[in-house]
Amino acid sequence: MQISRRKLLLGVGAAGVLASGASALVPMVRRDGKFIVTKSRALPVDGTSGELPKEADAVIIGGGIQGVLTAINLAERGMSVTLFEKGAIAGEQSGRAYSQVISYKTSPEIFPLHHYSKKLWRGMNEKIGADTSYRTQGRVEVPSSEEDLARSIDWIISARETAGFGTPLNTRIIGGNELTKRLANAKTPWKIAGFEEDSGSVDPETGVPVLAQYAKKIGVKIFTHCAVRGIETAGGKVSGVVTERGSVKAPSVVLAGGIWSRLFMGNLGVDIPTLNVYLSQQRVSGAPGAPRGNVHLPNGIHFREQADGTYAVAPRIFTSSIVKDSFLLGSQFSHLLGGGELPLKFKLGEDLFNSFNIATQWGLDEVTPFETHRIATATQNNEHLDGVFERMKAEFPVFKNSEIVERWGAVVSPTADELPIISEVEKYPGLVINTATIWGMSEGPASSEVTADILTGKTPIIDPAPFSLSRFNS
Ligand SMILES: Cc1cc2nc3c(=O)[nH]c(=O)nc-3n(C[C@H](O)[C@H](O)[C@H](O)COP(=O)(O)OP(=O)(O)OC[C@H]3O[C@@H](n4cnc5c(N)ncnc54)[C@H](O)[C@@H]3O)c2cc1C
Repeated sequence: MQISRRKLLLGVGAAGVLASGASALVPMVRRDGKFIVTKSRALPVDGTSGELPKEADAVIIGGGIQGVLTAINLAERGMSVTLFEKGAIAGEQSGRAYSQVISYKTSPEIFPLHHYSKKLWRGMNEKIGADTSYRTQGRVEVPSSEEDLARSIDWIISARETAGFGTPLNTRIIGGNELTKRLANAKTPWKIAGFEEDSGSVDPETGVPVLAQYAKKIGVKIFTHCAVRGIETAGGKVSGVVTERGSVKAPSVVLAGGIWSRLFMGNLGVDIPTLNVYLSQQRVSGAPGAPRGNVHLPNGIHFREQADGTYAVAPRIFTSSIVKDSFLLGSQFSHLLGGGELPLKFKLGEDLFNSFNIATQWGLDEVTPFETHRIATATQNNEHLDGVFERMKAEFPVFKNSEIVERWGAVVSPTADELPIISEVEKYPGLVINTATIWGMSEGPASSEVTADILTGKTPIIDPAPFSLSRFNS
């Protein structure tokens, strides 16, 4: 998922407007997108029953894709691993994603994570002996302009040269019959597209829960509905965690807390500059004669076939409520202000008030925001969802009788440079962070391996320097 600089910065732009006078906000008022506590839409996973263990080799905070895959990685290295999830496995981002697994046009920094991850995803079902719903399916992306086409060709040439991991880049420019077949029954006679043959997808409601079942099978203890309040230290190093159900001693802790990592680290005096961004998602029923696989068109149509035959349909519109962090982080995100037309509207409302009410400091014997927000999301924007579904039906009339199966809202929390944080924390030896990715479903297998390598002192297969926490100090 690529957040255009222009879109991401709308939240910061709105903060700037707020500073210049509340009346200027009136044209930017957005009526959707409110931060709420919700239910999981992912397949339920039973947690480990009984008492918490007294100790573990490693504790993982967070039961999304990063936490679960990091737990698997460490357990496969023979370590005893305990994972804590404040709500449900994949209750937040990892159960709410569009969930395409791609590398097309990714930045040079994250391309290795994506290219390597795609390889790992392809072997995942066989490795764990279960169906995660991952499918290799191919993705067509029609360029939006001549310049976009030129950039895409340049990207392919350069990525071919840098693709490693014993896997050549399987992406090319297509046209003619091949494109017509892949965009079956399209009304527009599309002429040329980028085609990523080995892209894939994993259905968000299924993927991470099935991985979590595997994690349990190989010995990971998973405690759901159990928030970690903070870490403990001894002799200048991490010595364990304190949860709402008691403490667990551990020399190694991984924070994979998704949108909550910023708050968690803030309580420890470490700033993680991430800003919440809202999205909406939906699933619609399939249709005979519809294109298979993954389609991305320049007229704002994006859909992906799921393993169950339904289609995930994404508006790919990113909005940001004006909240306390808009003021705190505005300057760090300000270079992303791209100008141009602003297609989104922003809301000055309850989110702003509520954001000042969430505790940012607490003691380890106090109830934390993690316990009051077991599963959090943003309310969906039906206008955005209707828009993309209507465009899809107009372009592909075979979908005219398709029905909406489900709609939901979601939150991601990127950094200003749109790179993940996969890093040690200098102040707390023994603590490693794996968070802030906006491409977690694609990157997860690689970034969790890199995390496990950092934690165990092994040289990672991918250089983690671009993802280091220290980059924010310079
Ligand atoms: C609408 C949408 C579309 C997307 N599309 C794509 C896509 O097409 N391709 C792609 O690669 N990525 C996509 N993404 C991004 C991807 O979903 C995320 O990058 C990924 O899921 C992040 O995983 P995570 O494990 O870091 O976070 P999460 O899945 O959010 O997991 C973090 C978990 O930590 C738990 N937690 C937090 N604090 C604590 C605590 N103190 N104690 C215990 N538990 C805690 C939370 O409850 C949460 O379950 C999309 C995301 C969204 C929302």
